[in-house]
Amino acid sequence: MAGRHSRSLTGSKVRQMHRHANLRPNMDRLWSTLARSAEIGTTARGGLRRLALTAEDGEVRRVFQRWCEEAGCQLTVDGIGNMFAVRPGQEADGKVVLVGSHLDTQIKGGRFDGILGVLAGLEVIRTLNDHGIETRLPVAVVNWTNEEGARFEPPMIGSAIFTGDKSLDFALSRTDKDGITLGAALDAISFRGTGGLRPDQCDSLFELHIEQGPRLDAAKIQLGVVTGAFAVRGFVVEVIGETGHVGPTPMPDRHNALVGAAHVTLAIEEIGWELHPTGGKSTTMRLVAEPNLLGILPDRVEMTCDMRHPDNAVVSQALERFIARLPELEAKSRCKIRLHEGWSYGGMAFDRDRVGLVRGAAEALGYTHMDMLTEAGHDAMHVANHLPTAMIFTPCEGGLSHNELENVTLADIEPGVNVLLQAVLARAA
Ligand SMILES: [Zn+2]
Repeated sequence: MAGRHSRSLTGSKVRQMHRHANLRPNMDRLWSTLARSAEIGTTARGGLRRLALTAEDGEVRRVFQRWCEEAGCQLTVDGIGNMFAVRPGQEADGKVVLVGSHLDTQIKGGRFDGILGVLAGLEVIRTLNDHGIETRLPVAVVNWTNEEGARFEPPMIGSAIFTGDKSLDFALSRTDKDGITLGAALDAISFRGTGGLRPDQCDSLFELHIEQGPRLDAAKIQLGVVTGAFAVRGFVVEVIGETGHVGPTPMPDRHNALVGAAHVTLAIEEIGWELHPTGGKSTTMRLVAEPNLLGILPDRVEMTCDMRHPDNAVVSQALERFIARLPELEAKSRCKIRLHEGWSYGGMAFDRDRVGLVRGAAEALGYTHMDMLTEAGHDAMHVANHLPTAMIFTPCEGGLSHNELENVTLADIEPGVNVLLQAVLARAA
C-alpha cells in the first residue's frame, strides 16, 4: 500500500536505499532481546519498574553492554552514564550515526517505552554484522541516562548533558526522594564514565519509539514519521497557607494550602480545555502536601504542572493566562501562590533531510505512514537543537503507555524497525 504522503527522493538517496534495500532485521532475535529486558525489574502485572540508576537499571545496563560487546561494538560511557556502543565505520574519523533511546522506565512502566529504541538499534548493528556490511560512517547505539525523570528530576537529563544544555555538576547533584544524589547512584552501579561522545562527533540521531498515544493504532497506520515536537512548559507551583486545628479554627480564619491547590488544579484544567480544540493539553501531575496529617490544616503544597501545544506561542500565552489568574486564586483560597521556575523543551521541527530519509524508507518499503508531532518528551528533542534528528513512531496497543499493560506485537514494530535500519543505512552506508 502506498504511503499517505508521497514525496520523491533525490537520486542519490534512492541509490543509497536500493543498495541494501533487501536487508531485513532479524525480528525474532529482537523480540527475544526485548523479552530478556522484560525480565529485569518485572512487576506483578507484567510491566517494568526500572528506575534510573537503581540496581535493576545497573543489571539491564550490564546485559546491554555484554550484547554490544558481543556485537563487536566499543562501549564508551560519559560522566552522566550515557552509554554509546560504537560500531566503527570505514572512515576512521567519520561522524557517528546515533540510534537509540532509553532503558530506564517509569515506576509503573511498560516493556517497550524507550527500550524498543535501544534494542532496535542493537538489532540494526547485529543485522549489519550478519551481512558483513561495512558502513562508511560509524554507527552507535545510545542508552540515555534518566530519560523518565521518575527518580531524578528533571527528565531527559542524560541527553541535556550530551548537548551541554545542562551542566554535569547540576545533574550529578540532583537527589531522589531518599536524598541520594544522582552522582552517588551512578557510582553505586559503576556507570560514571569518562568517555562518551560529543554532538560535534555525531552525524545524526534516529530514535524509534512507541507512539504512546492512540492515533496510529486506531487508524491502523503502520508507522509515524515524526516531523517535530510539541512545545512543553513544566513548572512548579507552591501554595503557602498556615497550619491550624481542623476543629476549632473558624472557616473564615483558615489558610488551607490544599484549598489553594484545588483552585490551581481547576484553573490548570480549564486552560487545558481551552487548548483542547487546537490539540493542546494542560495538566497538574503531582501534588505534595505538608504536613499531610490528620487534624491539622496543611500549610504548604507543592504542585508540578505541565502545558503542551504544537505552537510555542500558544503554550506561552496559556502560561501567561495562568499567571494572570494567580491573584484571583489567592483571594479565593486565602493562600499565597508562588510560581517557581520550571523547564521548557520541544516546539521544534526535526531535520528535514533526516525526516525525509525516514519517510523515503517508509515509501520504498510500501508501509502506510503519517506525519505527526511527538506530544511526549524524548531525548531526541534535546538532541534536535544540536544534531540533525528524526524519530519514528510505531503503533502501540490502545495508545497505552506509562502503564504496566503497555503492549505492542511483533507485527506492530516490524515496519518501524525496517525503516530505522534503512534510514541509518542511508546516512552511514
Ligand atoms: Zn520513552
